[in-house]
Amino acid sequence: MKKILILGGTGDAVKLAAKLADIPDLEIISSLAGRTKQPSALVGQVRIGGFGGALGLANYLQENSIDLLIDATHPCAGQITTNGAIAARSTDTPHLMLVRPQWDKVSGDNWIEVPTVDAAAQAIPTSVKRVFITSGRQQLEPFLRRSPNTWYLIRCIDPPDLQLPHSHVLLDRGPFSLEQEHKLLREYQIEAIVSKNSGGVATYAKIITARELGLPIIMVQRPMMPEGNKVNNIEEAIAWVGKFHLCKDG
Ligand code: NAP
Repeated sequence: MKKILILGGTGDAVKLAAKLADIPDLEIISSLAGRTKQPSALVGQVRIGGFGGALGLANYLQENSIDLLIDATHPCAGQITTNGAIAARSTDTPHLMLVRPQWDKVSGDNWIEVPTVDAAAQAIPTSVKRVFITSGRQQLEPFLRRSPNTWYLIRCIDPPDLQLPHSHVLLDRGPFSLEQEHKLLREYQIEAIVSKNSGGVATYAKIITARELGLPIIMVQRPMMPEGNKVNNIEEAIAWVGKFHLCKDG
């Protein structure tokens, strides 16, 4: 029996756990930060909460005799990804990062690319008065520092801790269709979108809609990733586990 720890918090991590659970002789443990009140159902064991930095994660790997570590966290969750790489190296645990490809700008896109959500708040053109924030409920504070004349539509899974004065919160979880996004942006007369470069199909409809309506997107780039094994889809992650599994068992 081999034990795999999946660092999760994404739809890909949910799918990966379900697929790996079908492989005999694998025990799957998924780890969640505990940010979402009602996380998607996961196949296998689940642990919730931080580890206490890279050292805490390294201790967890050793104490729980983890054989493989797969980081399937969101591409913008830079801290846990760095911690995963450090902990894997220090404990000699085989480590894989499942990183979905980022969205690339295509003809017709009007992106303002910025490194952080803080920078995104500052980069919203001053002429824009109605903004759709899709960059998460935990980083709203930078928008408080902007002009009070801006109105925000905020879409997130759980209610934000901070309430922006001129705003409306929509609690919803993707995937979102093109039709839904068109309707939403028209209904709320949105003039610009703030998004992270999450990649994947589940939330790509807003990018197409912005293109079709000629709206700017303030696009928060991903943080730098550590060196190490990377794949960009679930099938390749399963193949990596399979190879390792077969090698180890001779
Ligand atoms: P982060 O900034 O990279 O990590 C901050 C701290 O949260 C980590 O140092 C770790 O605490 C804890 N943590 C994060 N992910 C964890 C996991 N899967 N299991 C156990 N502890 C975890 O992370 P974040 O950006 O806040 O994201 C938190 C979670 O939300 C992740 O699971 C991520 O996949 C998911 N998520 C993030 C985004 C995003 O835009 N950032 C979007 C969708 C989903 P300790 O140092 O104490 O171990």
